[in-house]
This record gives sequence, structure tokens and C-alpha cells, in this order.
Amino acid sequence: KEIKQLTTKEAKQEIQELQDRLTDYGIAYYEKDAPLVEDHVYDAQYARLQALEQAFPQFISQDSPTQNVGGAATKSGLPKVQHPVPMLSLGDVFSLDELQDWEDRTKKSLGFQPKYNLELKIDGLAINLKYEQGKLIQASTRGNGLVGEDVTANVNTIDDVPKILKEPVTVEVRGEIYMPKASFAKLNEEREAEGQEPFANPRNAAAGSLRQLDANETKKRQLSAFIYYTAEPDQIGVTTQDGLLERFRELGLPTNPDNRVIDQMTDIRPYLEEYTEKRDSLPYGIDGVVVKVNNFDDQVDLGNTVKVPRWAIAYKFPPEEEETVVLDIEWTV
Ligand code: NAD
Repeated sequence: KEIKQLTTKEAKQEIQELQDRLTDYGIAYYEKDAPLVEDHVYDAQYARLQALEQAFPQFISQDSPTQNVGGAATKSGLPKVQHPVPMLSLGDVFSLDELQDWEDRTKKSLGFQPKYNLELKIDGLAINLKYEQGKLIQASTRGNGLVGEDVTANVNTIDDVPKILKEPVTVEVRGEIYMPKASFAKLNEEREAEGQEPFANPRNAAAGSLRQLDANETKKRQLSAFIYYTAEPDQIGVTTQDGLLERFRELGLPTNPDNRVIDQMTDIRPYLEEYTEKRDSLPYGIDGVVVKVNNFDDQVDLGNTVKVPRWAIAYKFPPEEEETVVLDIEWTV
């Protein structure tokens, strides 16, 4: 039913149902690394909930999945870590029109046309790395954004993550831990051979592998990393997102090489086309492109909501062909 046609009572009931269902999906996905539905099913219901809550804001509850960064750090048995600067999620859009709306709002807020840094949206899980005088002293997951899990021993087994930076800087950086496609295929083969349930996708596999109580288990899983964020750019003397990635490279941090700066949103098309085409041949999974306002002062001016930064947005690719094929087969059986 169209939102405009709903009575208040109907809206309240649908909002409640969606909040409950998406919470259950979230627990299965974030805490058990075993999703109950495919991402595009989750995304469609999440978008509906967001639209309903916007039309009927009196029914937004603090527990709603739209108000919380997914994933409580409760059940794994790993020690907890507080994040003084919360680790946020990203808003997402699924079309160029929605992207344009986001740019219009951003320009209006800033009062001018900002440059954007485009990055691939790596399909992994967020990680926070604390370096003191160039030495890695702690690694933690996002958890619910405010409290994550201490995975230092596990991250110490990942070759890509430097234990010592090339300069003795003290800085906290964030990025993505991911499982390359080849490692994912191998891991699922092994699991199936041992009669274990295969992981649904590389992101769940990476999350499950990183949050092992036994770091030796993580070591076997061949995880990798790309780092793309710090809340304290002054510590390493940078003022823009593309400058940050350059600086990370100098420091020896693993960064994705495929970022690009554009002057306005209409210039995004070639990048989207290029990576939609290259997506399958990349050795790691991507589920979209992240657009970030490039200048850090502008990012600070735009700020964050409780859940997402206003200075960035994820453009999500449509679900992969494969999934449709699988469904087709099921329907004809
Ligand atoms: P998200 O994964 O869509 O986006 C936010 C994250 O993107 C960040 O936390 C960061 O870790 C990551 N990221 C990757 N590359 C990045 C880059 N270059 N710059 C900045 N960040 C980058 O958001 P989310 O809130 O973690 O999860 C929502 C996603 O999880 C949706 O895609 C949804 O479909 C899926 N999900 C699925 C289910 C299910 O049941 N299938 C349940 C819950 C969530």
C-alpha cells in the first residue's frame, strides 16, 4: 500500500513489524554471520521502514534499526572496546536520481559545490586500528558503533596490516577487513567437505573469521585490509580524503588504489560504468561506490546523524546476476 494511503494505525503496525523483523535479520547477520535473507531483500524493507518513519516520525523508536549502527558486541566472548569517536554506517542510494538529491542537499547545506572523492565500497567489515608511535597497539571491530570487540590478536595474524608504520606517528585509523574471493571459495569448499554450513558471502566469512576466539584460526583464513579513514587527520597532516589515502600509502597502510576525485556529481558516470564492468574481475567483492566530500573542513561542517555521516553516501550496485539465476532454478523445480 502507498504510504499516503495508510491510516495512522496501519502505519504504526507496519513500522513495528518492520522494526522487529529487521532487528531479527540484523542479529543473524551481524552477530551470527549467518543472514536469513539476501541483502537486497533487507535493503528494500529497510528503505520502506525509513520512508514510513519519515512520514510518521512519532513512531520512530530509539531501538529502530534506522537509528542504530548494526551489530551488538555482546556474544562473541571477545573483550569489549569503547569507541570515543563512534564508528558509523553509511547512508545508501540505489539510483542516480537519489544520488543527485543527495548532492543537492549537500550543496545547499554547504552553500557551494564541493569536490568528491570516489572510492570502491569494499564488502568486508569495519576495523579500527590504534597506532602509538607507529606501533599497532589495538584493533577493534565496529560493534554497535560505540562498543566493539578487541580483535588485536586476530589482526596481528593479517599480513596486510602493518604492525609498525614507516613513521612513528600516533594515530587511530579505520578501514575494511575483507576476504579475497579466492580465499572465500577455498574456505567454503573446506567447510562443505567437513559438513559445515558454508558462509553466505565474503563479508560474513570475513566477519566470522576475524571474530574467532583462537587467533590461529583467523590466520588460516587469509584476510586482507584496505584503510580509508581517520577521525584525527591533523595527527598526520592531511586536509582532504584523497590526500589522506596518499599519506596512508606513505605510512605503509594498505589502501585501495582505485579512488578518483571529481568536481561535481554529474562526473560520476564513467567511474560507475568502469567499476560496474570491472566488478567481477576484481579479486575482492565490492557492493557499490562510496562518494565522500573531499575536504575535511567541509565534512566537519556537514557533520553526522546518529547513524551515518552527512558528508558521504554509498551508491549500491544492483544485486548480482548470480542470485537471480539461483532463484530462477528454484522456481522451475
Ligand atoms: P554498509 O555495510 O552498507 O555500509 C557501511 C560500511 O561500509 C562502513 O561501516 C564500512 O565498513 C564500509 N565501507 C566499505 N568500503 C568503504 C569505503 N571505501 N569508505 C567508507 N566505508 C566503507 O552498512 P552497514 O550498516 O554495516 O550494513 C548494512 C548492509 O548490511 C546492507 O548492505 C544490508 O543489506 C546488509 N545487511 C544485510 C542483512 C541481511 O539479513 N541480509 C541484515 C543486516 C544488514
